[in-house]
Amino acid sequence: MSNKRKFIVVTGGVLSGLGKGLFVSSLGKLLQSRGYKVAPLKVDPYVNVDAGTMNPIEHGEVFVLDDGSEVDMDLGTYERFLDVKLNKYSNITTGKIYKKVIEKERRGDYLGKTVQLIPFVTGELKNDYKALYDHSEADIVIIEIGGTIGDIENQIFLESVRELSLEEDVMFVHCTLVPVMGVVGEQKTKPTQQNVRMLREIGIMPNMIFCRSEKPLEDSIKKKISLFCNVSEERVISGPDLKNIYEIPLVLDEQCVAEKVLSFLNLEPRRKDLYEWKEFVKKVNNPSKEINIAIVGKYTGLKDSYASVIESLDHAAGNLNAKVNVKFVESSDIEDNKIGVEEALGDVHGILVPGGFGKRGIEGKIKCIKYAREKNLPFLGLCLGFQCAVIEFSRNVAELNGANSTEFVPDSENPVIDIMLAQRGINEKGGTMRLGEYEAVLKDNSIVKNLYKDNIALERHRHRYEVNTNYVELLENKGLVFSGKSKDGQLMEFLEIPNHNFFVATQAHPEFKSRPLKPSPLFFGFVSSCLK
Ligand code: GLN
Repeated sequence: MSNKRKFIVVTGGVLSGLGKGLFVSSLGKLLQSRGYKVAPLKVDPYVNVDAGTMNPIEHGEVFVLDDGSEVDMDLGTYERFLDVKLNKYSNITTGKIYKKVIEKERRGDYLGKTVQLIPFVTGELKNDYKALYDHSEADIVIIEIGGTIGDIENQIFLESVRELSLEEDVMFVHCTLVPVMGVVGEQKTKPTQQNVRMLREIGIMPNMIFCRSEKPLEDSIKKKISLFCNVSEERVISGPDLKNIYEIPLVLDEQCVAEKVLSFLNLEPRRKDLYEWKEFVKKVNNPSKEINIAIVGKYTGLKDSYASVIESLDHAAGNLNAKVNVKFVESSDIEDNKIGVEEALGDVHGILVPGGFGKRGIEGKIKCIKYAREKNLPFLGLCLGFQCAVIEFSRNVAELNGANSTEFVPDSENPVIDIMLAQRGINEKGGTMRLGEYEAVLKDNSIVKNLYKDNIALERHRHRYEVNTNYVELLENKGLVFSGKSKDGQLMEFLEIPNHNFFVATQAHPEFKSRPLKPSPLFFGFVSSCLK
């Protein structure tokens, strides 16, 4: 067997948003089920150094890792499917790699040389790919190249993986779309043919083609794609639309994708273990109860803004044999009285207020939290949702006039939420928030301690503001319980209101650590209460 490193490179074409990330995650899951260690790597063509400075409405949620990296949301999918913890080496962007090369050039690392894209930038990329393979001790690294074939932005990355294939064992998998035309419903292969031709022009021959389509690919269509794209028929894989994303590994497994990939990479076939995954999928597909949960957000125009929150609800519900119907409520619509609170929330079993930044929609969120508190409706607040819950309680229970966050009203008369001490004086916006995993100590006999079944909770964070400690005693005297605090007692991490159906919030983002087979304790508690 060759001692070269093993890579699978996944590219995409015809359309963006085909679900390459889901394919990578599902393939990874299958290889993992065969006992192989897989490390995924996402390459993003944008010039931002990381995803942290992008608006979720444009690019979907910003995912946060344990080490505090703010990364592309695909990494969330990888973590959920593979049940692994990724780190800053799992995401490369144009900005990140150029920054590295330019810094090296300034230091004089290339002294005397003309620093060109090839071989310097491609060389740096290849080093990163190989370093990830070595440090992760993976058997296979799967590299997902963001964007579509034909984009100017991702050309340097495609060149780098072409070069990589001269040095290591690389399998190229291309994801495409097979649309259906006309009343007869004929599956059309031309976009795939033309897109693969573009890939071949830059020197990459796909070894497998994953075809997204509404229905499974017909045999004659597979034959045609095989012939025109120069890929053996058995490596033309069908990716029909599915209701449940966690079913994708199973659909790939029916087509023996793991065996085909392992054989291509000269790795031995092994026995599979997909039992628990299959059981989970069965439960999700056969719920015995349905509930409606409102997500009161400010980026509801794009569902992807709340990807991990939705997934976490599904994980909890799946494990409880239930199905959650998410109802998006745009908080600025409530704020502007375009829609009434009762109208928006009258038919839901629970209310979730997720994270966010900036003033728009805050008053709408606060109104909805008041409704949940007064109507005894299960409520879960995350990060900004936690801060809004503190503001709502301060105003309406503790009677603190004009209580607010200094993020929204800098000279508020009762700044119950204020900028963190450690954040004062920081002006740069990239990667400077309180980021990554932190520990909270949980209060005895609290709801959260019960749910986490532990004295501490480790959750990921991404924020600049916090509960103003000057108000903690007053709020606690009025009945708000801060049930989780940082070790030194200075940062309020969890809150709850006793004698309520479920009123819990956290400064953290527990949605980033939920997994299909290990739902987040907080979401589990929330969904359980909604089901009652
Ligand atoms: N805007 C708030 C802060 O910076 C909340 C952030 C969030 O919800 N992630 O503290």
